[in-house]
Amino acid sequence: MDLREHIAIVQNFPKEGISFKDITPLMDNGEAFKYAVDQIVEFAKEVGADIIVGPEARGFIIGCPVAYALGIGFAPVRKPGKLPREVVSVEYALEYGTNVLAMHKDAISPGQKVLIIDDLLATGGTVDATIQLVEKLGGTVAGCAFIIELTELNGREKIGNYPIKTLLQY
Ligand code: 5GP
Repeated sequence: MDLREHIAIVQNFPKEGISFKDITPLMDNGEAFKYAVDQIVEFAKEVGADIIVGPEARGFIIGCPVAYALGIGFAPVRKPGKLPREVVSVEYALEYGTNVLAMHKDAISPGQKVLIIDDLLATGGTVDATIQLVEKLGGTVAGCAFIIELTELNGREKIGNYPIKTLLQY
């Protein structure tokens, strides 16, 4: 299965100079979507994950079917003001300005082995903030998995020594 055939590359989206990797054709295709999710399910088994954490919005799309397939939980990472109960938050730098991500304070039990899942690894800012949230809550990062890795942006360096799985590299 060549997943690359199911990624649409959109130039100058969402702004001039960006070559956006659109995963919606992959999601549209049942066989490709199942194949991609199954690869991450295998990785989740290898690292012994007992909960999945995924940032909005595309981390939900990939992370939830992995959690379902394994019969384990899924905890969302969201932008401020979206989660209704007490949260922990982390602020991180963007190219221009900053961003904040949050999780519910009771989303992870201390010692739980967490697999972080998102659709794409670019600079690593999102996954770095997510790792900090998981660790603030007492979780142990078991690994990080993505459909796509943009290798030139060196997002891996932010992940350090945690196990990483990426299905496609650009
Ligand atoms: P990072 O924080 O690693 O720089 O960016 C990764 C985050 O931005 C992910 O949550 C991902 O969904 C989103 N993102 C950045 N660029 C792209 C892209 O080209 N395609 C998709 N699908 N998501 C992107």
